Amino acid sequence: MIGSDETVLEVRNLGYRYPNGTVAIENINLKINRGEKVAIIGSNGAGKSTLLSHFNGLKEPSEGDILIEGDIMAYDRQSLRNVRQKVGVVFQNSTNQLFAPTVIEDVAFGPMNLGLSRDEVDRRVQESLEAVDMIGFEDVTPHHLSGGQQKRIAIAGIIAMRPEIIILDEPTASLDPQGVDQVLGILNELNREGITIVISSHDVEMITEFADKVLVLHHGHVEAFGTTEEVFANHQLLKKAHLKPPKASVLLHMLKKRGLDVDVKLNLEEACDEIIDAKLIKK
Ligand code: ADP
Repeated sequence: MIGSDETVLEVRNLGYRYPNGTVAIENINLKINRGEKVAIIGSNGAGKSTLLSHFNGLKEPSEGDILIEGDIMAYDRQSLRNVRQKVGVVFQNSTNQLFAPTVIEDVAFGPMNLGLSRDEVDRRVQESLEAVDMIGFEDVTPHHLSGGQQKRIAIAGIIAMRPEIIILDEPTASLDPQGVDQVLGILNELNREGITIVISSHDVEMITEFADKVLVLHHGHVEAFGTTEEVFANHQLLKKAHLKPPKASVLLHMLKKRGLDVDVKLNLEEACDEIIDAKLIKK
């Protein structure tokens, strides 16, 4: 889905200091529109997890505000309950997120806490397990599942809450290529249904294929926020943030330097077309 003009998540002058005094993020400003797929990238320690955990009120800012659908986030019990219905977070370590003895109880936990009827809970659990292609695993103990399956169950638990925004901290870390494709397929499908998706990652190649917009975090500051094409075309910026540019764009940069008349593209298919159509303009 292409993002609309309606801001669903806004961050104003956000700063967070850990109790030991470490300032993890500072002066963060950003706006995310409904239906966008946004990636927050940065090297280890850049502040990605700290930033994401503000989006559903898990952390309270030391400075600044978070706005969900235009409302400034408040941190009393009832306000947080409302926020968590709108914003679901899938943690990096899904194993920690799954705690019930069976898959079905795990996915049902959130909707049960909303006080929904048993029928509605059952319906949502079924729908969510279908969405992540995990029908048939209802009675399995989550800890007996593979890493990729655990991730999908953690996502199902969030889908069952019917959120407007889903935040995922490093959703593809430690998954095999098939697991990565499955998770990205699920996220793309949710996005087609109108859900806004925000992920963190340092896997630039994966983001090239997935995100509409990219925010680069470095030492707790926003270095850039723009379309994936804009941000990934700026190799100097990526280098400064200790990230590697997409390989296809590196190759095209090299060919350009050697005199081939090409535009820099991010994915392999577009890069291929560019090279096939290119003319040598100087030796
Ligand atoms: P990322 O997710 O990009 O790897 P984090 O948000 O985990 O970055 O960390 C940002 C900064 O905050 C780092 O300097 C990290 O050492 C620090 N930090 C993270 N968690 C804690 C904590 N519980 N106590 C103190 N400092 C922390």
